[in-house]
Amino acid sequence: MVRMLIGGELVEGTRGLDVVDPCTGGIFTQVPDADAADVERAVAAAKAAYPAWRDLTPAARGEILRAMAAKVTENAEELCALLVQETGRPMGLAQFEVLHLAVGYLNYYAGLEALPELIVEDDTRRVELHRKALGVVGAIVPWNAPVFIAANKIAPALAAGNTIVVKTAPTTPLTTLRLGELWADIVPAGVVNILSGGNDAGALLVAHEDVAKITFTGSTETGRKIMASAAPTLKRVTLELGGNDAAIILPDADVAAIAPAIFAFAFFNSGQVCAVIKRLYVHDSLYDAMCDAIAGLASSATVAPGSDAAAEFGPVQNKAQYEKVLHYLGEARAAGQIVAGGDVPEGAGYFVPLTVVRDVSDGAAIVDEEPFGPILPIIRYSDVDDVVARANASPFALGGSVWGSDTAAATKVAARLESGSVWVNQHCALDPQVPFPANKQSGFGVEGGVEGLYPYLALQTINVAKPVAAG
Ligand code: NAD
Repeated sequence: MVRMLIGGELVEGTRGLDVVDPCTGGIFTQVPDADAADVERAVAAAKAAYPAWRDLTPAARGEILRAMAAKVTENAEELCALLVQETGRPMGLAQFEVLHLAVGYLNYYAGLEALPELIVEDDTRRVELHRKALGVVGAIVPWNAPVFIAANKIAPALAAGNTIVVKTAPTTPLTTLRLGELWADIVPAGVVNILSGGNDAGALLVAHEDVAKITFTGSTETGRKIMASAAPTLKRVTLELGGNDAAIILPDADVAAIAPAIFAFAFFNSGQVCAVIKRLYVHDSLYDAMCDAIAGLASSATVAPGSDAAAEFGPVQNKAQYEKVLHYLGEARAAGQIVAGGDVPEGAGYFVPLTVVRDVSDGAAIVDEEPFGPILPIIRYSDVDDVVARANASPFALGGSVWGSDTAAATKVAARLESGSVWVNQHCALDPQVPFPANKQSGFGVEGGVEGLYPYLALQTINVAKPVAAG
C-alpha cells in the first residue's frame, strides 16, 4: 500500500480508503484513511519541524525545493502512470500536470524570498516592513488537478519558511502519496506531511489550534464551511473556489482560426478545471458558424480510458461528480438544443461525451452554474455592453476571456470583466510567474507569482526610534 508521510516516516494508518478506477467504476487499490490520531501526529511533526525550517536561509530552503522538483522529474514515468490510473485521463495530460505544472511551480518558488522594505527613514525613526513565516500550514486539495494543486501549495508555503500538512482529495490520493514517499529522504522530517483521507480529516486540520493557516482549493460550498470552521481560531485562509468563466467572441473574430483553441480551453481535462471556458458568448453574426465549428470538433473527439493511446479525453473522475454532470445534461436538454454529445454510453465507467448546447440563455442552470464536466453552453449576444454585464452578473469571478481580431479593442473589453484573470485570444494560461487571483465568490488569497508567497507570511513593522541629539 502507498503510505502517508508523517514526521519523516511512511505510515500505513489504521483504516483503509478505497480508490476507484473511473474508467471501470471498480475499486483497484486502497490507501490509508487518516484518522484523528494521524492528523494530530502530522500537525505535531510539522510544529516541531517549524523553527529549524524557518531559520534556514531562503537559498537553503530553495535547494530542497529544487531537489523535490528533480525527484518528480526523475520519477515522472511512474508518477504519470499513477495519475492516469486514478483520474482516467490521457497520458499527455498527466505529463502536462506533473512535468510542466508541478515541477514548474516547485522550481519557481525555490529560493524566492520576500525582502524587507524600508518604509520611512528620517531624523527620528527608521521603519522597516518585514514578512515572517506563519508556522504550520494545512493544505486541502481537490481531485481535478491533485498533483499540481498540492505542489502549488507546498512550494510557496515552504519557500516562505512554513511547514505543511497536505490532505489529498478522497478520490485522487495515489500520486501525491507517492510523491511523499519519494520526498521522504530529501525533505527534513516533519517539514512536509502528506495525509490521505476523507472530508473529516480536512475538517480536523481546519479546526486545529496549532495550524496557523489553511490553503484550500475546492468547491465554493466547502470553502464557506472552511471559512466558518476557521473562525474560532481566527486562522488565515486562502480559498481558491469554483468558477464559471465566460469567453466573449467579438464580431471581428475569425471563427475558423479560433475555434480549435476555444474547443481546447472549454474541454480541457473534460471540463474538470476551475478556469476553463464554461459559458461561451458569441456575437449574433458568428453564432451559427461558431456552434457548428465547436460541435464538429466535439463530435469527432475520442473519449476513452486514459490508458488507451487513442484517448484525447478521459472520464469524469468520480461517481459523485458523474451524477452531477448527468443532472446538468438533463438541464441542458431542457434549456437548449444539444448539437454534439448528450448521449451517455452504456457500460462501466464515468464516461460522458463532449456535449455542446446551443440556443440557451442566461438564467438556465447550465449557464449560471458550474457543471465541472464536459458540457459547453453557447449563448448568443448582440451588444458588447450587454454581454459584459452578463459575464459579470455571475457570483463567480475566477477567469474570463475576450476573443477578436483587433487585439487592442479586445483587451479594452477584457479589462471590463470582474474576474481575477482575464485573457485575450487565449484562456486559462497558467504560469508560475503570474498571479492567479480569485474574485467575488471564487475566493481570495492569491496563488502564483511573488504575490502567491505573501499569503504565507505575516507582516511585521520594525520601528526604531533614533537617539535624540544631546543639547
Ligand atoms: P470539494 O470542495 O468537494 O473538496 C475539496 C477538498 O476539501 C477535498 O480534499 C475534501 O476532502 C475536502 N473537504 C470537504 N469538506 C471539507 C470540510 N468540511 N472541511 C475540510 N475539508 C473538507 O471540491 P472538489 O469537488 O474536490 O473540487 C472541485 C471544485 O474545486 C470545483 O468547484 C472547482 O471549480 C474547484 N477548483 C478551484 C480551483 C481554483 O484554483 N480556484 C482549482 C481547482 C478546482
